[in-house]
Amino acid sequence: EDVVNKIAAGEIIVAPVHALKELIENAVDAGSTALEIVLKEGGLKLLQISDNGCGIDKEDMAILCERFTTSKLKAFEDLQSIGTYGFRGEALASISHIAHLSVATRTKESSCAWKAQYSDGKLVAPKPGQSAEPKAIAGRQGTQITVEDLFYNVPTRRRAFRSASEEYAKILDLVGKYAVHCDGVGFSCKKHGDPTMGLSVPANAGTIDRIRVVHGSAVANELVELACESERWGFKAKSWISNANYSVKRTSLLLFINHRAVDSTPIKKAVEQTYAAFLPKGGHPFVYLSLDIDPKRIDVNVHPTKREVRFLNEEEIIDMICDEIRSSLGKVDT
Ligand code: ADP
Ligand code: MG
Repeated sequence: EDVVNKIAAGEIIVAPVHALKELIENAVDAGSTALEIVLKEGGLKLLQISDNGCGIDKEDMAILCERFTTSKLKAFEDLQSIGTYGFRGEALASISHIAHLSVATRTKESSCAWKAQYSDGKLVAPKPGQSAEPKAIAGRQGTQITVEDLFYNVPTRRRAFRSASEEYAKILDLVGKYAVHCDGVGFSCKKHGDPTMGLSVPANAGTIDRIRVVHGSAVANELVELACESERWGFKAKSWISNANYSVKRTSLLLFINHRAVDSTPIKKAVEQTYAAFLPKGGHPFVYLSLDIDPKRIDVNVHPTKREVRFLNEEEIIDMICDEIRSSLGKVDT
């Protein structure tokens, strides 16, 4: 059974960035306003994320890393929306099968923080002879998740990594997306022991300032905001897009559906085509698009390894968004 779990986990989490995505989403779900991420060797040696969210009850710590443990299934709708992204209480469980995982956490009600270590879904003692039970420690409200030696027991996966800097770049890219998207949440991401900050966005920054920090002033100064929605197709879209005077070397699409960073090839293709008529040859758009789609309209049967999301009336929704983009570009084109 452990082998099966390990294989399943290794399929869901193929790179450090996939583990981090789950951890960021958990921290945001916990109502955090500050997220600090520290990395060693592109997250392979160390991936640590500290938040100031609601924390985890001590009583829940024993089962925290069992598969299908979740505090988020309050309604059937919830089940559907969480199912969309392939995970139902599987993220921490998966990580515990392929890394050394420890959790330190404190709720508002608790008089101290609690720390525990996990392996293969269960609490384990930090050292032989010690107790596996959560240990009382000093700490403030929130949760710190520490993932060490990712894939230590999956040598084939480990060997597949060409360079730590490549993994680091993927992580900065992901953190940058969430830092743009998560209004009211501060983000920092750095390499352990390196005083030069990889990325830092203050909690009170507005969307344009967030884009400025992550993508630079050149793009931030050229942004146009747009919005569209349709009750009929069950969606609402909010977007910040580069205008026709500005282009980037390759398409930069920051796509969020129901507040999760996802990929959608049809959306990417349509956006590129729409821009092609306005930009000089070889120029590409910058588009940050946040879509809220009725969870009932999202395809819940996508395999967890797929980051692509499909939804009903994709064509109609994409057409509406691209029409908005087109008329906006037409206006500012000189
Ligand atoms: P899911 O997010 O689908 O519920 P996870 O395995 O990612 O499953 O997390 C399991 C549970 O652990 C969550 O439902 C939540 O109750 C708790 N949890 C995980 N991370 C945090 C965090 N940073 N702060 C508070 N609770 C957390
Ligand atoms: Mg989760």
